[in-house]
Amino acid sequence: MGLDLVPFKTCSYDCIYCQLGRTQNPTVTRQAYVSPQRLLDQLLVRLEKGVHPDYITLGGSGEPTLNDQIGVLIRRIKAHTRIPVAVLTNGSLLGDPDVCDALLEADVVLPSLDACDETGFQDINRPHPAIAFDTMVKGLIAFRKRFAGGLWLEIFVIKGINDTEKQAEGFRRWIDRINPDRVHINTAVRPPAEASVRPVSREQMLRLCDLLGDKAEVVAPFQRTSTGQTRPCRDRDLLNILSRRPCTLEDLSSALGTSKSEITQGVNALLAMGKIHRVERQGAVYFQSHPKDPG
Ligand code: SF4
Repeated sequence: MGLDLVPFKTCSYDCIYCQLGRTQNPTVTRQAYVSPQRLLDQLLVRLEKGVHPDYITLGGSGEPTLNDQIGVLIRRIKAHTRIPVAVLTNGSLLGDPDVCDALLEADVVLPSLDACDETGFQDINRPHPAIAFDTMVKGLIAFRKRFAGGLWLEIFVIKGINDTEKQAEGFRRWIDRINPDRVHINTAVRPPAEASVRPVSREQMLRLCDLLGDKAEVVAPFQRTSTGQTRPCRDRDLLNILSRRPCTLEDLSSALGTSKSEITQGVNALLAMGKIHRVERQGAVYFQSHPKDPG
């Protein structure tokens, strides 16, 4: 279950692979973009309806640590439920002691590391000018030393950009220094901000995993639910997900715990109303609610 802590594309990066499109104005300004009480109320309503997620995920359509109330939110969530809290972050602000302190009570933090040097960092993540590779990576190392929860590093691999064996050696050195509990290898399976971004094959991802060590694993964009139960498909839920990222019918089915036939009916209705559109990529069909096709 996800909570969106910042307005659409409020981010310190402008990653070339971002499935939400380009960041118009990367920022490092932290403020209360969304009130923690509002987010908590939304969460409690959903929990009262019987939804019981594996994790409450703080993330959404930008960089959640830009919300300077993230620590307050984590504390309030933990006062109400024992469901573990996960934070999806690009990791750019972990060197800021306030951000570091705020995330210490989370159960899992999932930061990104897509480059092993400044050049790659600029090419892939296109950060706000205030963020340098060295500062970012030292923030990750310092955070790990204080954080007792699970640290799951994500490396987004792009064909021809950061997928070579030499790059893997560079990543391996940083992984050894950061000391995460897991390393997730992902690639561009959804339409990215820049059309030139290409995914690497699953075989290449598995080869990279071998080079990156025992902690590395290939991750799928969505974890499938296995309860066998389905929930009704609501337009609001579909639009909520599709406003954040392009999804296939299977993605939507997994994310919402709804049968594929119900998802298909809901998606067809939204297509007919002109509220979403189709995008084809690598032979797969995605749906999204943005007016333009970024691919
Ligand atoms: S992928 Fe994440 S960190 Fe990168 S621009 Fe998009 S929202 Fe920001």
